[in-house]
Amino acid sequence: MARRKKIYEGKAKILYEGPEPGTIVQYFKDDATAFNAEKKDVIEGKGVLNNRLSEFFMAGLTAIGVPNHFLKRLNMREQLVRSCEIVPLEVIVRNYAAGSMSKRLGIEEGTQLPRPIIEYCLKDDALGDPLVSEEHIAAFGWASQQDMDDILSLALRVNDYMSGVMYAVGIRLVDFKIEVGRVYDGDFQRLIVADEISPDSCRLWDIETGRKLDKDVFRRDLGSLTDAYTEVAQRLGVMPKGATGMMKPTLIN
Ligand code: UDP
Repeated sequence: MARRKKIYEGKAKILYEGPEPGTIVQYFKDDATAFNAEKKDVIEGKGVLNNRLSEFFMAGLTAIGVPNHFLKRLNMREQLVRSCEIVPLEVIVRNYAAGSMSKRLGIEEGTQLPRPIIEYCLKDDALGDPLVSEEHIAAFGWASQQDMDDILSLALRVNDYMSGVMYAVGIRLVDFKIEVGRVYDGDFQRLIVADEISPDSCRLWDIETGRKLDKDVFRRDLGSLTDAYTEVAQRLGVMPKGATGMMKPTLIN
């Protein structure tokens, strides 16, 4: 196969130039990082699971009319996505207090919030993705007021969709992060959901037991990350029940 041009390599994914202009191949690695890459490991099968799960969520969003970058899955680790200009913000939606919000505000993890709370972090690894306000975003021109309105609407629609999909399989969507990108249709620009939606970027707790089924398993050394993600995939019907590990032939395409 002809060598593809690598556009970018991040902590969990590699982006290659796609076959058509305006497309990108997104390759999901097995690398796991936490605490701004201070903790690192290779978790066999994680990339395969996240490729499938992100496909599942993005395709579901497309089906209900929430624009996003997903075009099609290519193979076990790769998907074709629409290229876009990533807005340099991490958009976090929280339904229950956890993680950095619990620490910052002294709210016990698991406390239900009075309504979904949206936070923005500047995408800047060197600074550790600091929390920023809409004032900062407007003053420094990271996004326009129209962008912020669209981001809020996208984030809340993704939240409703993801909360419902997860609730149906006995999982609580505690919080999640999305990224958005700009695409141009003729003279118009609009925002779409980009990057990935997977247990790497969500907090997912079993409703009955509270067991964590997301990247906190890795961050907090709570057991096998692959088992947790496999459980999410199986409950959603993305992976056949009874399949263990990620090397099952049933997963090839
Ligand atoms: N998150 C993410 N990438 C980041 C930071 C956060 O995907 O760089 C997700 C994280 O998995 C969680 C939510 O955003 O679902 C809120 O994370 P939080 O601010 O609590 O940060 P953390 O406790 O993970 O440092």
